[in-house]
Amino acid sequence: MRRRVDADNARRVDADKPRRVDADEKLSPVPVPGRILNEIRTHALESRPEECCGLIIGDENERFVRVERCRNEMTQKHTENPQLYPRDGTAAFFMSPSDVLRVEKELRDTAERVSAVYHSHVGAGAYLSEMDLEYAEHAFFPFPDAHQIVIEVYGNEDAVGRIGIFRRDGVGRPFQGCLVRPVDR
Ligand SMILES: [Zn+2]
Repeated sequence: MRRRVDADNARRVDADKPRRVDADEKLSPVPVPGRILNEIRTHALESRPEECCGLIIGDENERFVRVERCRNEMTQKHTENPQLYPRDGTAAFFMSPSDVLRVEKELRDTAERVSAVYHSHVGAGAYLSEMDLEYAEHAFFPFPDAHQIVIEVYGNEDAVGRIGIFRRDGVGRPFQGCLVRPVDR
C-alpha cells in the first residue's frame, strides 16, 4: 500500500503545479517569413499594455501567408464579470468571436485555412501558460491543427523579446515549443 500512497502524493504535487510549455532553445528554430514576424511584433507593440491576439492564414504551399488581427475582448469580459474572468486584457486574451467568425467566413470555399493562432505576453516570457493550454486544448477550440505562437513583450521601447512557436503531432498530443527564425520568403 505504501507505494500506492506515494504515487498518489506524487500525482497531487503534479496537479498543484500549473502546467506550462516553454520554448526549448535547444531545438532548432522554426523558419517563419520575416514579414509575418514583423506584423505580429507590431501588433504586440501597438497593443501594449494589453495582450494582442490574432490568426495566421496559410494555404497548401505555405503555412504562414498573412496575418488577421483579432480584438482582445478580455478587459470588457473582466469588467462585465470579474468572477468569471478574473484577469483583464493585460494578463490574458479573449479572442473576439465575431472577428474569428469573419475570418472563418472569408476562408470558406478557399484553399486557405487558419494555420496558427498568436498572442502576446506583456512582461512575461514566450511560453504557453496553463490558461493558454486550456484554450488550445479545449474541445470547442475551432483550430485544433493550428500552431500556437507567443510573443514576449516588455515595457521598454525595443520591447519585443523572443517569439515561441508551439506545435503538436496531432489533436490530443502534447504541445512542444521552440523559437522561430526569420526567413525571407
Ligand atoms: Zn498566453
